[in-house]
Amino acid sequence: MQTITDLVKVLEEAQALDQAGLTRLLTAPEAIPLYHAADRVRKRYVGDEVHLRGLIEFSNYCRRGCLYCGLRAGNTQIRRYRMTPAEILTRARYAVGQGLKTVVLQSGEDPHYTVEELCDIVRTLKKMDVAVTLSIGERSKDTYAALKEAGADRFLLRIETSNEQLYARMHPGMSYQNRVNCLYTLKELGYETGTGSLVGLPGQTPAMLAADLVFFKALDADMIGIGPFIPSPGTPLDHAAGGEVETVLKMMALARLLMPEINMPATTALSVKDRDGYRKGLSCGANVIMPNMGLSEYKKLYAVYPGKGEGFARSDEQMVKIQTVLQKLGRKVGQGYGFRVGR
Ligand code: SAM
Repeated sequence: MQTITDLVKVLEEAQALDQAGLTRLLTAPEAIPLYHAADRVRKRYVGDEVHLRGLIEFSNYCRRGCLYCGLRAGNTQIRRYRMTPAEILTRARYAVGQGLKTVVLQSGEDPHYTVEELCDIVRTLKKMDVAVTLSIGERSKDTYAALKEAGADRFLLRIETSNEQLYARMHPGMSYQNRVNCLYTLKELGYETGTGSLVGLPGQTPAMLAADLVFFKALDADMIGIGPFIPSPGTPLDHAAGGEVETVLKMMALARLLMPEINMPATTALSVKDRDGYRKGLSCGANVIMPNMGLSEYKKLYAVYPGKGEGFARSDEQMVKIQTVLQKLGRKVGQGYGFRVGR
C-alpha cells in the first residue's frame, strides 16, 4: 500500500487522483506533507499574490429553505434588508478607493431586483474598472446571459455537496440537477465559474467530500470556495456539530493539487471558526481573500452563520488585519483583476 507521502507525490506530479486516494488523504492523520505540497503548487502556479475581492452583501432576503443557512426564508429571527442600487454603488466606489480590483455582489435568492436593475448595476460597476463577480443563486439561462452581456465576469454558486441524497436532505424543494445545470450553463456562457462545498454537513462522509473534488475537476471550475459549516440559530441545524478546520484545510490543499491554476479564497467562515483561519488557509493553497465592503449595520444582518458580521465593524480594520497576515507570510496584494492564470 502506498504511503501518504507517496500519494501526495503522485497527486502533485499528475494533478489527478481517484476518489479512493482522495478519501485516504482526507482521513489520514498526517496532513503536513499535503499542506506543504499545496503551498508549493500554489506558489509555482499562481505565485505569491493574494487577490482581494471586495464583497458587498446587498440583500438578505431569500426564497430558499437551505437547512443550514441563517438567511433561509423560514428564519423569522433575523431582520431583513435590501440595499438600493445607489447604496450598492456607493460601497463599490469605497472598495475601488481601497484599491480593490474586483467587486463581488452577493445576496440571498431575492427576486425583488429585476434583471434590468441588476444589469444596470453591473454596467455601472464595469465603468469603475473592476472585475464583477455575482453570487445571487440559481437563475434562468436568459438571466445569466443578460448579466454576462452587461459585463459580469464571474459567478459563484457552490454545489454545497455533490452527493445527490445529502443535497436533497439539505435543500428541501430544490433540485440537485438544476444546480448542476446552472454551473454548466455559467461555464458555457463564458463566466469564470466558482463552486465549492460546505464541510461538516450532518451525514457528510469523507468519501462524499472526495467526490466533491472529483466534481470540481470535471466541471473545470475556475474558483473553489470551501468553508466549514457553522450551525446557525433559527435553522433546523442549530444544534448540529459543524465542520472541522482541519478537514477544510485538507479539502483546500487537495483542490489546489488537483487544479493548480484555480483561484481559491481563505473563506470568511474559516476565519470565523478559527482566529488564525486566513493564515492557515493561505498556507494550504488559498490565494484569495474576500474583505467585506458593506456597512456595519448590514453586515450584522447578513447572518448566514453566527459571528460572521461581528469580527470587524469597519472595513478598513479588516483590510489592516489582512495586510498584516500577508506581510507575515511574505505574500503581497495582487495588483491586477486576478483572473484565472493561463486563461
Ligand atoms: N444565494 C446564493 C447561493 O445560493 O449561492 C449566495 C448566498 S449564500 C448565503 C452563500 C454561501 O453561504 C452558500 O453557498 C453557503 O455555502 C454558505 N453558507 C450558508 N449557510 C452557512 C453556514 N451555516 N455555515 C457556513 N456557510 C454557510
